Amino acid sequence: MGKIYSEDELLAISGLQHIAFCERQWALIHIEKQWEEDQRTAEGRVLHERVHDPDYKAHKPGIINVRAMVLRSFALGLYGEADMVEFIKQPEEIGVKLAKRKGYYLPRPVEYKRGRPKRGDFDRIQLCAQAMCLEEMLECRLFEGDLYYGEIRRRETVQFKEPLRNKVQELSERMQRLYQQGITPSPAMKTSVCKNCSMQNICLPSIRNKKSVRDYWDKTINLKV
Ligand code: SF4
Repeated sequence: MGKIYSEDELLAISGLQHIAFCERQWALIHIEKQWEEDQRTAEGRVLHERVHDPDYKAHKPGIINVRAMVLRSFALGLYGEADMVEFIKQPEEIGVKLAKRKGYYLPRPVEYKRGRPKRGDFDRIQLCAQAMCLEEMLECRLFEGDLYYGEIRRRETVQFKEPLRNKVQELSERMQRLYQQGITPSPAMKTSVCKNCSMQNICLPSIRNKKSVRDYWDKTINLKV
């Protein structure tokens, strides 16, 4: 059995998508507490604020929706909040029992995203981490959840298979290690990554007046040789 973290050691689930994108970006936001809001992150925040109403519980037949459900996992060392968890009534004894309700319900996390499906598993990792928190909290097994993308107004179903679970485990451990060491890794030096980064101006301030990230790195590398 792996390490069990204390309440004080838990780190934000939202950090998983940052560390999966770039370790330095994660450290700037979660260790150094620097944050730069660009248009994309601002729109995403507004969407999340809209769906994060903890008192909202819409009841559809056979489905109970719980918004802004607080999550945590002492095994992964994570805490966070699910935009929405649907508890779907099951015909058999799968899932969890709910207070004052008959039968069994299977939890299904649903995460709202502003844009459209991206390349890479960033959103899937975050959703799977939410599922793993729910499994630990509710002592049940979850099989799938959904990512809702605002731009295309559609859900993408995500299955919580072993490779995705392993990725969550690996990134959570990496976050814990870096956090305990208080290390902010050096810049990634991948122009394809940096050009899509909302932390560019904080991470690489001297590129502001340059033509591209590539120019910055070319100059930096040339100075070193
Ligand atoms: S600018 Fe590049 S190195 Fe810096 S945080 Fe962003 S992705 Fe990472």
